[in-house]
Amino acid sequence: MTSSEVISTTTGQRRLEGKVAIITGGASGIGECTAKLFVHHGAKVVVADIQDDLGRALCANVLGSTNSLYVHCDVTDESQVQAAVAAAVETFGKLDIMMNNAGIADPSKPRIIDNDKHDFDRVLSINVTGVFLGIKHAAQAMIPVKTGSILSTASVASYIGGSASHAYTCSKHAVVGLTKNAAVELGQFGIRVNCLSPYVLATPLATEFVDLDGAEFEKYASSRANLKGVTLKAEDVANAALFLASDESRYVSGHNLFVDGGFSIVNPNIQ
Ligand code: NAD
Repeated sequence: MTSSEVISTTTGQRRLEGKVAIITGGASGIGECTAKLFVHHGAKVVVADIQDDLGRALCANVLGSTNSLYVHCDVTDESQVQAAVAAAVETFGKLDIMMNNAGIADPSKPRIIDNDKHDFDRVLSINVTGVFLGIKHAAQAMIPVKTGSILSTASVASYIGGSASHAYTCSKHAVVGLTKNAAVELGQFGIRVNCLSPYVLATPLATEFVDLDGAEFEKYASSRANLKGVTLKAEDVANAALFLASDESRYVSGHNLFVDGGFSIVNPNIQ
């Protein structure tokens, strides 16, 4: 790619023209919002989720059937992840972007002495094994063509402790580890691997976890945020995902992009 081609890519209106993406957990929240933005920028999007009614309705009524495809895909099941990648290639001809976004909060009790092993394993199975399988099967489709962008949704819990869940914090740290390791291995094939770490925002995952409605949740999140007067929205995370997915970030790999309004740099002991 020449420098003028890079410039025309970065100034173009449709920043994912001709690209094919899979978004796991694409039926709701951050994934849904990112699917809309990717299609707006010219991508074909496979929405991979377990909420079939939501996912089908999103593709049929919002994204459009020529631009999108819904596939039922439990990210903990290797054959279903493999099938989602195959569906992208069969339907749209290739796979350029894999966004491993599916995740859950921890249904267990916060204190480690009360933590349930089954809940711990379940969080790791979706939030970590699901990301591993997404990277693995996306890489299999991308290696022969020697290009691709893989991104995963981590969290502020990827770099600090103190979230209300040991399993969640552990899982998001692991996403960063997987990202770095895969970025090192897959760089030789021109494949970039990155992740995103959003601050908290009002999606079903978060509002149900703390049992607050959207407006109450945003008040709660804002009171703890570093950046005052600005509320993190799914669109902000989707825009960061768009950057990592597009050729604008063609020399960015192994990176954990904080979408946290500076939360990562706050030292609570210094006022
Ligand atoms: P959400 O609940 O709106 O979306 C999560 C999606 O993942 C849902 O559509 C759900 O059906 C899907 N999913 C769950 N288990 C699955 C499985 N086994 N296989 C396939 N899909 C599955 O929540 P969200 O906030 O949009 O979450 C998206 C990602 O963002 C998660 O990885 C989450 O950890 C991360 N995140 C969220 C926040 C927040 O405050 N909302 C902050 C930082 C990071």
